[in-house]
Amino acid sequence: MSGLSIVKEGTGVVIKYGDVILGLDVGHPGSTTLLSHGHFDHLGRIQMAREVITTQGTLDVFRARGGRVKWQTTIAEYNETMFHESAMITPIDAGHVLGSAMFLIEFNDGMRLLYTGDFNNVDSIVHKAASAVDADVLVTEATYGTPEWEFPERAQTHSRIIAKAEEELSAGRIPRFKAYSLGKAQEAIALLQDNGFTVMTGNGTIDAVSRAYTKHGNELNFVPTNKSTVRRLTTEDVVIVSSSPGHMRRRLVKLLGSLITRDLESKTVDYDLSGWTLTDQGRKGFPLSAHADFPGLLQFAKNVDPKIAYCFTSNASSLSEHLSSEGISSVPLE
Ligand SMILES: [Zn+2]
Repeated sequence: MSGLSIVKEGTGVVIKYGDVILGLDVGHPGSTTLLSHGHFDHLGRIQMAREVITTQGTLDVFRARGGRVKWQTTIAEYNETMFHESAMITPIDAGHVLGSAMFLIEFNDGMRLLYTGDFNNVDSIVHKAASAVDADVLVTEATYGTPEWEFPERAQTHSRIIAKAEEELSAGRIPRFKAYSLGKAQEAIALLQDNGFTVMTGNGTIDAVSRAYTKHGNELNFVPTNKSTVRRLTTEDVVIVSSSPGHMRRRLVKLLGSLITRDLESKTVDYDLSGWTLTDQGRKGFPLSAHADFPGLLQFAKNVDPKIAYCFTSNASSLSEHLSSEGISSVPLE
């Protein structure tokens, strides 16, 4: 592994080994970028990349969110190895959002490096859990890399969300679940539709991304908020999934006027769907996460069994310390 350079750069990392230079979730001028998924915090300087290797799902999501592709794209399929210069690259389902991929990079001397991007090693309704593969070098996210982040069983969180939706509707209120427009919103729609609720979406981005999910085999049934549907908010029992209640409010004012909107808002109760609600008592909601929790991060690294791990994202130092104390030599990338 001597000769491996791995440097944090903007929203990702740049690796150099032998004649191979790759940007991982960041554009590096004149080089190829491996794009793990379509969240904005992984797209820094992406327009500077000469070539982007990613999945069709990520490309569809990028476009659904208004992104313009200005680079040469190479579409990669899960578990299919492709050659890139002197390396072999295999995308592996990361279980985080539609199209999300970890990348296994095998160099010509046999060294194997696994870059996780963001990942979840628990099944959700619309994503399959990430599985570990052996690697000499692990570059892992560390979002929930401190011990207090241990999420309850997902099925339990799902049940609590359903119970809350029923409770609010039977009290004459409108439950509104706030979720990221890519990933969590689609899981919320799937969960609610599967349990018989009529789901209205509050934001056009959720609609566009959800159509991409449907294209990739996750049939999502929802009612977009528009001129012809908006009255259903006043006449039917509906549950809302929204990534931005403020944006939705402005839309309702345009469609219904401020008086009716104010009345609807007074009946609406907001709940966050986010891992961060687990410890933040000020945030009302449910800890539905698209990331591995702390035990999940540790277990994943143990399963990869690397000679060295590099950790990135906010809790990199903490996860590094814990991995080192578990016998996995680790370095935070900061
Ligand atoms: Zn992400």
